[in-house]
Amino acid sequence: MTESESTTIPDSATRQPARVVLVTGGSKGIGRAIAQRLQAAGHRVAATYRSGDVPAGVLGVRCDITDPAQVEAAFTEVETALGGVQVLVANAGITRDTLLMRMSEDDWSAVIDTNLTGAFRVAKRAARPMIRGRFGRMIFISSVVGQLGSAGQVNYASSKAGLVGLVRSLARELGSRGVTANVVAPGFVDTDMTAVLTEDLVKKYTDQIPLGRLGAVDDIAALIEFLAGDEAGYITGALIPVDGGLGMGH
Ligand code: NDP
Repeated sequence: MTESESTTIPDSATRQPARVVLVTGGSKGIGRAIAQRLQAAGHRVAATYRSGDVPAGVLGVRCDITDPAQVEAAFTEVETALGGVQVLVANAGITRDTLLMRMSEDDWSAVIDTNLTGAFRVAKRAARPMIRGRFGRMIFISSVVGQLGSAGQVNYASSKAGLVGLVRSLARELGSRGVTANVVAPGFVDTDMTAVLTEDLVKKYTDQIPLGRLGAVDDIAALIEFLAGDEAGYITGALIPVDGGLGMGH
């Protein structure tokens, strides 16, 4: 996709002011659906990828969020092509599941470095232009297990719980500058990340979900579209579940 393709959406064609959006991890799963949906809503969207590609009409920027230099370069590329990022969706994440007694230092560090420190890196880089523009929406994709805990996911649950503290501190630091920060906590969503689960485990999880099904990527993307829009301007520091009732509001 070329730079000109990504910048030709006329503001007049949109329901809301077109914002410059950056989604991390837009190559697949939830991040891809978010990028696609926000682009279709008329926003000017960029998405990071490491492998694969990003949806048509979205500006793809190669970036590994564990590398501060790549984060800096990705933001600069988006700023040059589309302008300063106004809506940040920190979505990129990994799992390295195993029980505590078998969890290596590397299993722990890799997940924290990607899911929590990666979110810190992109938030820090996004903040200054948002403050300058006196407008910003930071949205972080956590998980229901950040609040419920999950056997075999000490690293992942810690990283996702950590996002809540990160976001609530950002909400306090940046609220007076017109920047909101919120956490979205999906339940089990049908993506590559959950494709590794056995059929038995999926059934066990599904039995615990009041709505009786795994989430679809668009269940999450719909909320992100709302949070990026003007009507969400008075929501900050919130932890919003999209989990079919699995976490009962947590
Ligand atoms: P996928 O595995 O399908 O996609 C993960 C995305 O993150 C990919 O685009 C991947 O890019 C990107 N990514 C991973 N590591 C890095 C990195 N170091 N730098 C840049 N990008 C990276 O996962 P989902 O779509 O399922 O998950 C998306 C988010 O939602 C994650 O934060 C996950 O924890 C969270 N979540 C998912 C749930 C689920 O049930 N699926 C439930 C709750 C939360 P690439 O492939 O190009 O490397």
